[in-house]
Amino acid sequence: MPEKTDIHGVMIDNVNMDEALEIVLTMLKGKTANKIFTPNAEIIMQANRDPELLNILNSAELVIPDGAGVILASRILKCRLKEKVSGIDLVKKILTNTKKRPVSFFILGGKPGVAEKASINILSDYPKAKIMGFRNGYFEESETPEIIKQINDSKAEVLLVGLGAPKQEKWIHKYAGQLNSKVIMGIGGAIDVFAGNAALAPEFMRKAGLEWLFRLIKEPGRYKRMLDLPRFMILTFKKRLKQ
Ligand code: UDP
Repeated sequence: MPEKTDIHGVMIDNVNMDEALEIVLTMLKGKTANKIFTPNAEIIMQANRDPELLNILNSAELVIPDGAGVILASRILKCRLKEKVSGIDLVKKILTNTKKRPVSFFILGGKPGVAEKASINILSDYPKAKIMGFRNGYFEESETPEIIKQINDSKAEVLLVGLGAPKQEKWIHKYAGQLNSKVIMGIGGAIDVFAGNAALAPEFMRKAGLEWLFRLIKEPGRYKRMLDLPRFMILTFKKRLKQ
């Protein structure tokens, strides 16, 4: 079991990308569903205001540091995390590894047609991956039993859930016990990226930890939510001063 690092109450696994992949491969050999969450600074701030979300994040089998802000906070708090392991990069790593270990997926989330487009692109980039099914993320609670049946009937080993945070974390936590997939992972907007509907920040911006700036330029409407980023840094410095 990897060591955990406390970032404002969220217990993050101190793993690098290779270690995260190894953990996923071990989960795939198991018998029960394992939850993977990918908190970034915004989600950690949401969890600070929402004890239910905090408990859900901390109950997952694997919690990876998604974003440069989380890594920076770990350095400021002197509990250095090894490296950023974003949800989308871990999914790509599992997909790349399908050359050695084929894996089957079900994709749940995104607007109608997006999961389908993502599936087509994934199959063309990673021919050894199997996509057993997909479904858009706009449904009523009453449709959930039928969705669970569709996922279980598909026999997918990995369920990727992109309903946005905290909806996806709450949905996964509530229904993991009824799902037969071995790995259930919340992946936010990654389905849109695989579908080609949303771009990732260019490499130089990702390296400089400026993904937040890229997102703000692309989706200025998110600025209110993004105020959580400076709040996250202020909270981090306050904690550092108390150390
Ligand atoms: N989404 C969804 N169902 C919902 C709300 C959102 O499938 O009820 C999808 C949305 O289409 C997008 C993804 O969830 O693909 C992420 O949404 P958002 O940008 O709001 O969340 P974040 O990336 O900040 O977690």
